Amino acid sequence: MQFILNNEHHSSVDSIYQKLIHEIPTLSKTTVYNTLALFAEKKIINSITIDNTEILYEQSQKPHAHFQCNICKNIIDIDLDSNLYGISEIENHKVEKVNINLRGVCNECLKSKK
Ligand SMILES: [Zn+2]
Ligand SMILES: [Zn+2]
Repeated sequence: MQFILNNEHHSSVDSIYQKLIHEIPTLSKTTVYNTLALFAEKKIINSITIDNTEILYEQSQKPHAHFQCNICKNIIDIDLDSNLYGISEIENHKVEKVNINLRGVCNECLKSKK
């Protein structure tokens, strides 16, 4: 938990494990995985999937969209005014999670291309 709070956003199970294993040599990846899944279930942290390959975790905070750059692969938090956040029902479907992902070329990569 402390790790999530102290670290950059959007950490994968693997990256968290790799960083923690130095401090806690007895740590197993399963423990990391289960702990993160539990925190996410309790909504203490957010779980996000950007490209369906990997679950990333970040501190729970105000809802935001994610922009992933196709070039540097960075994931950037985007403040998006959307009344989709917080929605609990849409066309009689029950909404449990809202994920808004955008993809393109970030401003840093656009700058360096010129
Ligand atoms: Zn980029
Ligand atoms: Zn984020």
